[in-house]
Amino acid sequence: KSAGFAQHMKTDNKDDPSKSATSDFAKHKSIKEQRRYLPVFSVREQLLDVIKENSVTIIVGETGSGKTTQLTQYLMEEGYSNFGMVGCTQPRRVAAMSVARRVSEEVAANTPVPNRTELHSLGGLVGYAIRFEDVTSPQTTIKYMTDGVLLRESLRDPDLNMYSCIVMDEAHERSLNTDVLFGILKKIVSRRSDLKLIVTSATLSADLFSNFFGGAPTFRIPGRTFPVEMFYAKTVQEDYVLAAVKQVLQIHFNSPPGDILVFCTGQEDIEGVCTLVAEKVGSIDGCSPLLVLPMYSQLPADMQAKIFEAAEKGVRKVVVSTNVAETSLTVDGIKYVIDTGFSKVKVYNSKIGMDTLNVTPVSKANAKQRSGRAGRTGPGYAFRLYTDRQFREELLENSVPEIQRTNLSNVVLLLKSLGVDNLLEFDFMSPPPQQTLESSLYQLWVLGALDNTGALTDMGRAMSEFPLDPPLSKMLLFSVSMGCTDELLTIVAMLSVPSVFFRPKDREEESDAAREKFFVPESDHCTLLNVYLRAKQHGFNNDWCTKHFVHSKGMQKAREVRAQLVDLMQQQKIVVKGCGGSWDVVRRTICSAYFYNSCQIKGIGEYVNMLTGIQSCLHPSSALYGLGYTPDFVVYHELISTSKEYMSCVTAVDGQWLAELGPMFFSIKESFATRIAKKSIEAEREARMKAEMDKAQGV
Ligand code: ADP
Ligand code: MG
Repeated sequence: KSAGFAQHMKTDNKDDPSKSATSDFAKHKSIKEQRRYLPVFSVREQLLDVIKENSVTIIVGETGSGKTTQLTQYLMEEGYSNFGMVGCTQPRRVAAMSVARRVSEEVAANTPVPNRTELHSLGGLVGYAIRFEDVTSPQTTIKYMTDGVLLRESLRDPDLNMYSCIVMDEAHERSLNTDVLFGILKKIVSRRSDLKLIVTSATLSADLFSNFFGGAPTFRIPGRTFPVEMFYAKTVQEDYVLAAVKQVLQIHFNSPPGDILVFCTGQEDIEGVCTLVAEKVGSIDGCSPLLVLPMYSQLPADMQAKIFEAAEKGVRKVVVSTNVAETSLTVDGIKYVIDTGFSKVKVYNSKIGMDTLNVTPVSKANAKQRSGRAGRTGPGYAFRLYTDRQFREELLENSVPEIQRTNLSNVVLLLKSLGVDNLLEFDFMSPPPQQTLESSLYQLWVLGALDNTGALTDMGRAMSEFPLDPPLSKMLLFSVSMGCTDELLTIVAMLSVPSVFFRPKDREEESDAAREKFFVPESDHCTLLNVYLRAKQHGFNNDWCTKHFVHSKGMQKAREVRAQLVDLMQQQKIVVKGCGGSWDVVRRTICSAYFYNSCQIKGIGEYVNMLTGIQSCLHPSSALYGLGYTPDFVVYHELISTSKEYMSCVTAVDGQWLAELGPMFFSIKESFATRIAKKSIEAEREARMKAEMDKAQGV
């Protein structure tokens, strides 16, 4: 089926690709012309030759040279897809979705409009899969996916036989799952001589990859970059949001046409910059128009797609993005880059025993990538909102690979399921710190996933079937013996989607009051269940959702996630039963998975973690906080670290449950022993009194 494509490309080859680029290139050139203009196109044949000769090829090329969008198509056009899918992994969900959409359009462009069918829309020939969202079909030949998805697929299909080629994209990013995939794919390549593995990197760290694969050849795509003039802040900036806003306006008022790309940390800052810029520009009479667009992972897909559209003539475009625009996504026509110098990074916080997202200074390598975005289609300008001295003295050369800084329980569980008994022997490109490995093993042992010898238990095996963090899969499986799987499926699904509570800026009180109506006094987990059940009663009706300040799209997502979890349950032959909404049974089940996150009251609204001794408070969004309920013992889903530690999503539990469900921690605690003893003395006394009164009454 791909032969036709290959021929087609050969005829296209004759044309000379256009040499000049303008900011609205995308608007005036057809998709085919755009494809031929990309640097990778000029080396297409040589590149395919190298791939043909080798089982592993490392490809290095500037961001925007066409690695992500073109390689998969070349491989398909060359006919590799006759023997299996062409897979391409991405560290970021947004990139997987967005690139798949683009490639689907590019592939469709090879077929005249009247002949196009369903195959030519997203999910047909070209599809993507991210956790809980599979937009592929049996006809899919090019599949974009997150590295996590491919990692899980290797559990079911250890040789990844469905694939003829795998492109491990953005390898320089060193995401945790990509790093683990390296070790797994190295093994697979040695077993499958027919598999083509292609590793791409935007930076020169390629030697590391080449060495890891026994000296695999490195292919460099010739760059086409323009000079970028660099400007540093004169003084240290206190507030990078305000500094970014000021810089955008300065460029807009004083500099020639050209689009602006601002690098920020996350949704909140990005929305902040967008709002402030729009307000300022709107308040100035006769100000030339500015199109301000945000870009972050939780943004709806249609809004994300907007950043690629060229603005109307005479309108300057400003894209305010997370580091996804650093190398994963390329916006054409950027002339000015503003770099706040920060990004959000997931870090394992050993103090609180879990990962937190921290706003951290970027590395020099990141900063170079960021400024480079300004010189893709012509000379550009980069404004660094930090000083020259800060750049030289405070930024690290490269950022620390994720595997060396985050919690590894998920990875450890997965590797154990793949039969890697001794983790120290696994072929890691950069081995994780021993201490992190040990603490992950310990956490899994606590959850009953590993036995005393470190071997996988039946529980552990069952847990690894779910694409969830270990505590959540444990909770689901424990619910089976508690007879409340129906309820827990909903809770876990609700915990796996962004908050469904809608809290618009000017209607905080109103929306808080609406949220309060759903409160289950003892438990935020049960509150989530309650929202779902009430929405279900109303047929998940949009108007009902809006009226109650509930995101209907979020509810829809939760339903989809739930349905997928039900499928996974059925595959394990687990019958889904409910307990009729008994909050107590549900709370007990929740307790079973969160020993690590159990707290005892210490003062008014103050709790202390029973294992780590960390102090924390109820988060103001908690039902318990809202209703002023302060039980002796609670468990929480996660800790949010700001000025203080806040427990978010909290459930009141009975001290005795902790003792019963986590005997390895709590049975020896005296407070429990005395508490239980006291209870039985009281019960005995009561029985004796009753007997005496009965006697006195002559019963
Ligand atoms: P690389 O992977 O080498 O960084 P890409 O293949 O991502 O390069 O980008 C090649 C071109 O495709 C760029 O010009 C980019 O603007 C364009 N492109 C990528 N994704 C999209 C999209 N979703 N919509 C429009 N254009 C896109
Ligand atoms: Mg790319």
